[in-house]
Amino acid sequence: LRIWQKKWTERHSQVTPDRVEEILKRALKLKGLDQSDVEVLMDIEEPELLEKLFVTAERVKEDIYGRRIVLFAPLYISNYCQNECLYCSFRASNRGLSRVKLSQDEILAETEYLVRQGHKRVLMVAGRSMASKILTNILESIRTIYSVHEDNGEIRRVNVNVAPLDVQGFKYLKQEGIGTYQIFQETYHPETYANSSPCR
Ligand code: SF4
Repeated sequence: LRIWQKKWTERHSQVTPDRVEEILKRALKLKGLDQSDVEVLMDIEEPELLEKLFVTAERVKEDIYGRRIVLFAPLYISNYCQNECLYCSFRASNRGLSRVKLSQDEILAETEYLVRQGHKRVLMVAGRSMASKILTNILESIRTIYSVHEDNGEIRRVNVNVAPLDVQGFKYLKQEGIGTYQIFQETYHPETYANSSPCR
């Protein structure tokens, strides 16, 4: 959001062909870009520079992922949520939804089932809860998923989609060997965001 709160004119003045070329060249080294680089790329308007951006993006994608499709299975461990995002059935005021929080035994059983189906990756999902020990529960759930070993394999990557954490929380997630952490922001339009996600 901070990217969009900067004045457009201020950002756009940084979009010169030389700067874009330099960023795209660095992108091809697959070491990542920082926020100021991304700001410049998002403000490109000239068709020629846009085309270079798309070509570079395709090469980066090919180098990192190749021509493969990676499947993952969602594993919802809790649909309790304190928030009120209007587009989401997990929102706290939705009284028509049965609330469930899986026990570790249930997570174990779900994981065994997924592994037997051949899954190697899961996306572990939980609503935003202020329940005490929520982080402890998340970490324990990751360990439970990784503990499953069946004849045809195990889960190699637990990706995580839970409420934002503090820095120490993210360090704990990393220690558990997660694949990726995901957080979605459905819109970058400040007013729409404020109206659709009146978070508490
Ligand atoms: S915080 Fe996530 S789970 Fe909760 S209502 Fe919003 S989108 Fe749904």
